[in-house]
Order: sequence, then C-alpha cells, then structure tokens
Amino acid sequence: MTANANHSGSSRSIVPDLATYEVWLLTGSQTLYGEEVLAQVATQSQYVAKGLQAASEIPVTVVWKPVLTTREAIHETMLEANAAPNVVGVITWMHTFSPAKMWITGLNALAKPLLHFHTQANAELPWDTIDFDFMNLNQAAHGDREFGYIEARMDVARTTVVGHVTDPTVTERIGKWTRAAAGRLASTSMRVARFGDNMRFVAVTEGDKTEAEIQFGAQINTWGVNELADAVHAATDADIDSLVAEYVELYDVVPELLPGGERHESLRYGAAIELGLRSFLEQGGFSAFTTTFEDLGELRQLPGLAVQRLMADGYGFGAEGDWKTAMMVRIAAVMGAGLPGGASLMEDYTYHLVPGEELILGAHMLEVSPSLTTSKPRLEIHPLGIGGKEDPVRLVFTADAGAAVVIALSDMRDRFRMVANVVETVALPAPMPKLPVGHAVWKPAPDFKTSAAAWLTAGASHHTAMTSQVDVDMLRDFATMTGIELLVIDESTTQLDFERQMRLNGAHF
Ligand code: MN
Repeated sequence: MTANANHSGSSRSIVPDLATYEVWLLTGSQTLYGEEVLAQVATQSQYVAKGLQAASEIPVTVVWKPVLTTREAIHETMLEANAAPNVVGVITWMHTFSPAKMWITGLNALAKPLLHFHTQANAELPWDTIDFDFMNLNQAAHGDREFGYIEARMDVARTTVVGHVTDPTVTERIGKWTRAAAGRLASTSMRVARFGDNMRFVAVTEGDKTEAEIQFGAQINTWGVNELADAVHAATDADIDSLVAEYVELYDVVPELLPGGERHESLRYGAAIELGLRSFLEQGGFSAFTTTFEDLGELRQLPGLAVQRLMADGYGFGAEGDWKTAMMVRIAAVMGAGLPGGASLMEDYTYHLVPGEELILGAHMLEVSPSLTTSKPRLEIHPLGIGGKEDPVRLVFTADAGAAVVIALSDMRDRFRMVANVVETVALPAPMPKLPVGHAVWKPAPDFKTSAAAWLTAGASHHTAMTSQVDVDMLRDFATMTGIELLVIDESTTQLDFERQMRLNGAHF
C-alpha cells in the first residue's frame, strides 16, 4: 500500500498494509463469578472487539482473545503475542475484577507495546433496571483501577485510553497507538545500510549504534560504497530503458534529459543508480540507508533521484551518514501508512526572517521525498557544488501546504532524545524559479522564535524526518514504547516550560 503511487513504483513500495497487522484485545476477569457471568463477559468483550475492528480510524486488525482468568493463561497469551510476527501490540481491559497479581508474570514477559483500554460494555447506566447483578458484571470502574496499580507499580510502558468504544475520539486515539505500534515493529525489525561513514567532523549525526540496537532494535551497519557502485554498474540497458520510460510518464522531464536530449546519458545513469540501490537494499532486507557525498567511490553521481523515489516507496534515508534520521524517516513512513502525505529527510536550511512573517525554508542537496507533494515534480539536472562528481539528476517540487511535524533524534550519550516540532507547511509566498531542489516552507509552532530557541536549547539536529502523516500523539506513544526521551514543541510551548521539562527529563533519565 502506498499513498503516493504517483511518485514511485507502487508495486515496489515497502510500506506495509497495516490491515495485515494484529492487535489482540485481552479481557481480564476471574473464576469467582461462575460460568454464566464469564460467558456474558466474553459476549460483551467480543462486542467491544467488534467495535474497535469496525472503526475506520484503527488501521490494524483487532483480534478478540478468550477471557483471561488465571495467571497461567495470561502468561501464555503474552508469550504467544511476543512470538506472533504480525502482532504489533496488545490491548488490555479488566471487564470485571481481575486480581492484578495474576498479571505480574504476564506483564513481565510482554515484549510488545501495551495499551490499557478503560471502558465498559454499556454507555448508559440503566437507571430504572440496575440491580446488583448488573453492578457485578460491569465493574471495570474498579477492575481497571486494580490493573492500573500493578502497571504503575511495575512501571510498565503503556498508553491509557478512556471511554466508550462508540466514541470516535476513543477509537481515533487507539488508532494512533496502533500506528505507533506498527512503527515500533518497523523499528525492531529494521536493517539500516550505511554507504560510508558520517560526514567528517559533524557532531550531531554521530551516535552509539550499539545502544540504538538495544533501544530501537534496528541493526545499523556499514558497507563499502563500491559494493553499491558494482550493483549500479551491473544494471542492464533494458531495465534502464523501462525505468526511464517510467520517469518520462511520471514527471515533467526537462528536454535535455529526455531520450535524444544532450544530457540523456545522465538520466540513464540516475536510473542505473536506482536499479542498483534498490536491488542492494532488497537483497539485504534493508528498509533504510544512508549515503555521503564524501565517499562515493566509483559512483559518478551523488544519488538524488533514486533516493527521492526510494523514500516515496517507504525506505528511510539519512544524508551524510545520518542513520538516526534514516531510522526516523522509515518509522514515520510505517506509522503513516495509508494516510495522505509522506515522510522525508529534511534539513532546516535558511530563513525568511522578516519580523512577524518568519518562515523556515527546508530542503537538502537533493534528497527530499516527493511523497510530500501531490503535484507533478520536475526532473532536472544541475551542478552540485560539493562532492566533485558529475551533475546529479533530481526531482524538484514544493511540498504541499498543510500540517506536518519535524522530528530530530540526538544521542545525548546517556539517552536518545527525540524532539518533535509541530509545523505548518505553507504555499510559497513567491515562486523560487532558481531553486534546483525539492523543498518545503513552513511556519513552526508556537512561533518562530520560541520554536528555534527551544530547538537549539534541546540540541536537536539540523537533519530531521518531516512527516505530513504522523502527529505528536503517535510519536509520544512510540517514545514510550521505545523508552527514549521526547520533547515536544507545539502550540502550548513556552521557553520557560520547555527548559523546565528538560530539567525534569534530566532527572528522570
Ligand atoms: Mn545534510
């Protein structure tokens, strides 16, 4: 599934279909109530599972599991959830009273994300008919409090959602958590291929890759760029022909790059890069990668067009060896699966600094994903001032106006810090006919000065993952699942509160 089939080869997309993922609804009770009541508990929890499954805001498949009444059954179910490759997380609900010491072993074993859904089968209290049997059957109000105690006592990472299954704000919030859980699965199963190391002397793109594998689960390793160059140079003329034909169909290709044009050979080389890079990534099972202009070996162009198209197909990418941003672009692409928009490497580049009108212009040397636009990109060729290679081909476009988030990941030595700024991408105030790269222009929340000051105070990086699909709730859930720090800059941020939050986080971590 891809939301941006027009800018990539949709059949080549590695964005998962979230409907193939499952979350399990686990209902807690105890044997004390007898078979008849437990049968009613089962019926009612199946009703809740159906309500979750029917909600369009929940993109994954919700699977009802038999009511849990013993420590052994709870433990066994958690182990099954851990082992099932398509289960992204579990939802728990204590329909009746489920003495929480029964849950300790299972919660200790659970290795997947947890959502505590505090709900009940009925929305309305049946005032005129309510009796004590009804009260005994529908007692999540205290059953879930018992469960909340053990979660708090054990400091279990979790998201808590409260309300009736027919309340769309409830299903929307649960849907966001399932997206974060899908991102968590993408993170724990990720392989990142690095071609070359970090850009020399750069600090923020460095980091502890061993710690990243412990926290995120992602394997991050480096390959010699000439292995990639060999794959590029092995591309066949026939494959290049058909990919060029696809470019001509999808993009406004400048005449000099078209078949017969004087620089057509450069476009053919760009297609060879895509073919070689894609086959390298597919063969290695990689879902994210990095390049660096300082280490291109036998490659004749810095990969531009190829990287842009691979990002639109759901691959994570970071430039200059930035594997942390590559991870976040991939994770954001999975969380946003099926939603309009996309995820891309972005870099805060330059400002419109007129007081009261401040805007940030973001771009990169080449590598911005066309998933950020619904318009038809132009395919162009221009010189690149650095790297000392041939002129690279690239897609040029403006990101659609709308809500977005920019996400940075910094290694603070004792922890990974994620900083997320809510932004609004805007239509260009004036055309930029001479800017030869894909770009976005945005207004950061709460305002430019507060945003930039908070960003600098947090040590957040110049490279980001920009997403027009994922919101702060999803990122907060993901940070909780992953055990990393999250600092949010949004409408409610003040510099004073932000610094206070940083000090609190310092104590916590
Ligand atoms: Mn850069």
